[in-house]
Amino acid sequence: MRYARKSRKRINFVPDADVDAWLDSNPQAMISCPNQPGQLKLTRESCAKRYITANEPRWSNIGAEPFHIFVFKMNLIACRNCQVGAELASEIKVKAA
Ligand code: SF4
Repeated sequence: MRYARKSRKRINFVPDADVDAWLDSNPQAMISCPNQPGQLKLTRESCAKRYITANEPRWSNIGAEPFHIFVFKMNLIACRNCQVGAELASEIKVKAA
């Protein structure tokens, strides 16, 4: 007996947002990272968090295991001595105080 295949409901994973229009109306919200590959765009807060996380002392004690933590640590190396991240981190600390 052959069963009919049930159709799956299509889920749209890409939101229907006009990204270019949003970026035009919020020019200060995102920065373009000069150090990450692919001209990564991220929020100023995310950049500051990456800089702060990269400079936490706990990342200096992690070796190659577990591998997923090692990959995360390697991903933050570019942020460790980044001038852009340092400026944004100090700016956001001032805002929080
Ligand atoms: S801290 Fe520097 S390298 Fe890291 S995301 Fe921000 S701009 Fe890019």
